[in-house]
Amino acid sequence: MKCFNHPDREAVATCQKCGKGLCRECAEKYTPCMCEPCAAKSQRDQQQQAQNKEEQRKQKYKDALVDTRSEFIKTSVIGIIVGIIFVWYQATQTTEGIDGFSDCVGTFFVAFCIPFGWKFFTYLQSFIPIFLIGTWWFWFIYLAVKIVLSLLAGVPAFIYQLVKTILTQRKINRLD
Ligand SMILES: [Zn+2]
Ligand SMILES: [Zn+2]
Repeated sequence: MKCFNHPDREAVATCQKCGKGLCRECAEKYTPCMCEPCAAKSQRDQQQQAQNKEEQRKQKYKDALVDTRSEFIKTSVIGIIVGIIFVWYQATQTTEGIDGFSDCVGTFFVAFCIPFGWKFFTYLQSFIPIFLIGTWWFWFIYLAVKIVLSLLAGVPAFIYQLVKTILTQRKINRLD
C-alpha cells in the first residue's frame, strides 16, 4: 500500500478512522495516527461536542432557576389560601374579631408567610438524626414545634424567598 498523500512512498501505517495508508512522515502528524481529512473531522466533532455540553449545562442551570421561581409561586398560592383562612377565622370565630383594615392585612401577611416558614423547616428536616426518625413521639413533638416555628420564622423566610426569586428572575432574563 502507498501513502494516501504521497503516491511515491510506501505506507508504514494506516489511518485509525478510515484505514488509508500513511507514510512515516504523515503517520507522525497526529496522535492517534490519522489522515488529514479524518483529523479535521475529529476536531470538528470535538468542538461540536464541547458546544453541546455547554448548551446542556446552560439549559440545566435555566431549568433550576425556573424551578425556584415556580416553587415560590406555588408557596405563595398556598400562602394566600392560609391567609384567607386565618382572616376568616379571626373575623368570625374569635371574640376579638378583626379591627379595621390594617389588622386584616397584618393577620393575612403573617398567615401568608407560614408556608414559607414551613418550607424552610422541611428543608432542615434532612438534618434530623436518623435514630429519632423511627420514633412516633418524635414526629408528634416535631409537628407541633414545626407549626409554631413556621409561624415565627414565616416572615423572614418569605422575605428571603422573595429576594431569591427576584434575583433568580433577573438571571433568567439575562439568559434569554
Ligand atoms: Zn482517514
Ligand atoms: Zn505521506
